[in-house]
Amino acid sequence: METALITIAYLTSAVLFILSLRGLSSQETARSGNTYGMLGMAIAIFATVTADGINQYAFIAVALVVGALVGRNMAAKVAMTAMPELVALLHSFVGLAAVLVGYATYIAQTKTGSVFETEIFVDVFIGGITFTGSVVAYLKLKGSLSGKPLLLPGRHALNLVAALAAVGMGYWFTTFDGAEGLLPLALMTVISFALGAHLVAAIGGADMPVVVSMLNSYSGWTASAAGFMLGNDLLIITGALVGSSGAILSIIMCRAMNRSIVNVIFGGFGTGGGAPAPAAGSAAAVTGDIQETDVAEVVERLAGAKNVIVVPGYGMAVARAQHKVQEMTELLREQGVNIRFGIHPVAGRLPGHMNVLLAEANVPYDIVLEMDELNDDFPSTDVVLVIGANDIVNPSAMTDESSPIYGMPVLEVWKSEFVVMMKRSRGTGYAGVDNPLFVEPCTRMLFGDAGDSMDGIVGALRERSGS
Ligand code: NDP
Repeated sequence: METALITIAYLTSAVLFILSLRGLSSQETARSGNTYGMLGMAIAIFATVTADGINQYAFIAVALVVGALVGRNMAAKVAMTAMPELVALLHSFVGLAAVLVGYATYIAQTKTGSVFETEIFVDVFIGGITFTGSVVAYLKLKGSLSGKPLLLPGRHALNLVAALAAVGMGYWFTTFDGAEGLLPLALMTVISFALGAHLVAAIGGADMPVVVSMLNSYSGWTASAAGFMLGNDLLIITGALVGSSGAILSIIMCRAMNRSIVNVIFGGFGTGGGAPAPAAGSAAAVTGDIQETDVAEVVERLAGAKNVIVVPGYGMAVARAQHKVQEMTELLREQGVNIRFGIHPVAGRLPGHMNVLLAEANVPYDIVLEMDELNDDFPSTDVVLVIGANDIVNPSAMTDESSPIYGMPVLEVWKSEFVVMMKRSRGTGYAGVDNPLFVEPCTRMLFGDAGDSMDGIVGALRERSGS
């Protein structure tokens, strides 16, 4: 394909990517957003592989087929609950690809000069941080590494020394011509690997969602740096779009969780004055007796209620209970009950997780509200159903300074008249913190798989209504 046609194809792709991001910003338009994204990527790949000077078609065809098959398989198999791990793993591929392309470009010596070498340096440095940071995030999210923050003494000084050493290597690297710069480049790569792993290891507990969106942002900047290095405009634009949207999402999530972004990026940096950082220790133990309930009592309460709020969490996703929740919603609305959903910004295991599940089950969007929109309504609520949620309704986030989730706003469900907590045990949630809500006088525990409990509730409601 000629250069002018490639430029037009790249511009078309860039516009489609912008439309895609716009579409993905709301549930109603998310499907068309995905379609724009896929179309943009198809045009970008076609234009790239048919460009003048590309002739290794056999290699490209094999890579495309193998990549497409692996990607399709992974996407088809992944459980909704394992999405954050998959996203972190995919970010690590972007980082590793940037490092490898950086080396290949340097060794091929397509250009020379200090500007070109600086571009390679930036690409490999950010790529290295993204690669190991994403691998550590993947292991933490998968549970293979502890979710607790690793807070080494003098960690900020260590990070600073590592960053300065990398800049020193960069200066050394740009003073070479030919392939002699490989030694400083390799040393800088090792430093960037260590820095990426250390930065993410220092973040833990309830701050992990921000890490995933931050690594998303890093992977965008890596792609953008690669775009400068390769002289590829589409990579520059796409990388900047991903980098800035990831950064904006990180800031929005930090605000929602009352964290400072600097503090999250550097794992507890500058906590003297600003927003609180998560404590590394464990929270105060919860004492008191819990009260259990059963499906019959819950249905009785629901039938007599005027206002009901459902708080879904990660356990609803595990139990795949969203369809039963939708059936219950429909039945209660038919009886004139005002039922709404309260969505915490970090509920589940990925941003927007609960919104996606509820949309998939056709729960009307207008009764699905953000935490801030209904946190004041709990005192006038008759029944709250907490379905597989835990950290996001933990009152100790507001009261216990020693808690790793201290400072995170939560849904204040204990202010309502009657709270039903559906879960399988007295176990903790993702942050590993005991939850005093279990022993609040208004709380009743409905133990069991949320899917089974919802089956029972829907069945009993149908029997009552005769439908
Ligand atoms: P939590 O992880 O706090 O709690 C989920 C609860 O669901 C568990 O206590 C578990 O209890 C219960 N559960 C699990 N399976 C079932 C089942 N089959 N039926 C019934 N209950 C079940 O989830 P939340 O949504 O409340 O909070 C999200 C947490 O995840 C926060 O700490 C957040 O920071 C973190 N996180 C969020 C990300 C995001 O982007 N949203 C990404 C990474 C982490 P039991 O075992 O007793 O059943």
